[in-house]
Amino acid sequence: MRFTSALATMSAPHPNDMTRLSERLQDSQFSQLGDAFFTRLKATPLAQPYYIAHSSKLAQELGIAEQLLRDEDSLSLLSGNQTPAQAQPLAAVYSGHQFGVWAGQLGDGRAILLGALRDNAGQETEIQLKGAGLTPYSRSGDGRAVLRSSIREFLCSEAMAALGIPTSRALCLTGSPQRVYRETPETSAVVTRTASSFIRFGSFEHFYYQRRFDELRQLADFVIQNYFPACLQAENPYQALLIQVCERTAEMIAHWQAVGFMHGVMNTDNMSILGLTLDYGPFGFMEAFDESHICNHTDQQGRYSYRNQPSIGNWNVYALGQALLPLIGSVEQTEQALSSYRSSFEQHWIKLSSAKFGLASNQPEDKVLMDDFFQLLQANHADMTNSFRALSHLNLQTSEADHPLSDLFIDRNGLAQWLLRYRHRLAAETRSETARKAAMRATNPKYVLRNYLAQQAIEQAQQGDFSEIQHLLHVLQTPFEEQPEFEHYAALPPDWAADLEVSCSS
Ligand code: AMP
Ligand code: MG
Repeated sequence: MRFTSALATMSAPHPNDMTRLSERLQDSQFSQLGDAFFTRLKATPLAQPYYIAHSSKLAQELGIAEQLLRDEDSLSLLSGNQTPAQAQPLAAVYSGHQFGVWAGQLGDGRAILLGALRDNAGQETEIQLKGAGLTPYSRSGDGRAVLRSSIREFLCSEAMAALGIPTSRALCLTGSPQRVYRETPETSAVVTRTASSFIRFGSFEHFYYQRRFDELRQLADFVIQNYFPACLQAENPYQALLIQVCERTAEMIAHWQAVGFMHGVMNTDNMSILGLTLDYGPFGFMEAFDESHICNHTDQQGRYSYRNQPSIGNWNVYALGQALLPLIGSVEQTEQALSSYRSSFEQHWIKLSSAKFGLASNQPEDKVLMDDFFQLLQANHADMTNSFRALSHLNLQTSEADHPLSDLFIDRNGLAQWLLRYRHRLAAETRSETARKAAMRATNPKYVLRNYLAQQAIEQAQQGDFSEIQHLLHVLQTPFEEQPEFEHYAALPPDWAADLEVSCSS
């Protein structure tokens, strides 16, 4: 395949304390930047909020006692009915390129940054409510998020983190009977999401296109100081920043390609400056492999298809490079920094794909061997997740375990011929078969958030039953483990799932 891990640095756990969440939140460092960067405002109260789910894993990482997330104080805080005692909430401004076209000012149209939790080392985790009501950046939107898309964002954020992919996280999911109108009337929800920072490529573009270079510099200095302090040692810290962002973005997208994750809306306003997967919307995981697959029904041209994601990443870092040009000082130095995207992507892709095939050493013919398997997947429309998982069970000497793999392919002869070459190649590995298989199973997940699984959880939740959200969250939090009791969550999509369409409407 032509394309190719800074993991989200999560702050060290706090001791579990019973201080109410509304009292623990502090103003984030971002809020010190000044009025040019955000508008302070409160969330709009949401009627009759109810608890739906929370992520135990994230709560533990943040040192939040879990019972706190189910109490009245959290419910009113996380639905926007109560303001933090010591922090002033805000909505950030940014701009961006949408589907390759300059869209001008966008901003947090329905997200409100409540504040931040700070750990003992001073590391901050920002806490944001998505779907918390109108802001000055809502444009024609209603400031709300529907239950359906909120369930998807909640589950996928935590699933991606468990897959080891840099991402924003989801702490809580809160529902409300309050009606919102999309294609049909739906009920609303709020996702409490977290990240070290929600600053986007579009945050920089915002000031660049308005020729407000003082604010542009202020923002870059803030990002360097707080998230990339090593850049301060470089001769040109702004160029060093661009290199860092190129590398993180390349690494994130290489991870996406490796598990078949498609973001769906890779606009520059959805690209995190920290290289985190951000703004889950019409995303999808590849099932029947087709590199031209488009997960977003609204994206008719396929700009954000699976195949295009790596080059769109490149396009997006160029948009960022353009915005940083006045700070970096020369086109040459900017282009030099931007070239790190391609090399970094290639490097990560080779590393991740070799691991998928269980190749610990590198041989010149590996690329062709791996490309040929992707071509077989493509020609047979074989399920990507299950094919790689089945490959992870393959025996070197006997073909006993080939069965689950060959069941996924129509062209069994083609597969058998490829397997001959693959077995021959594996014989050159020095690792034991047991070690190779274990390593492959630790990189090829058994469970991903298939659209139909999310849909089942959504339909049950719309009937007031949230148990399927819990089950899915549980399974997806250890995606590399066999979990035989949950085998059915690894099943191929049923026929009805062929008609599932996911669009930008959320
Ligand atoms: P997205 O592509 O979902 O990340 O959203 C693009 C822009 O539209 C961002 O500025 C969002 O804040 C804004 N937006 C999306 N949905 C809504 C909504 N329901 N109400 C207000 N703003 C929205
Ligand atoms: Mg967005």
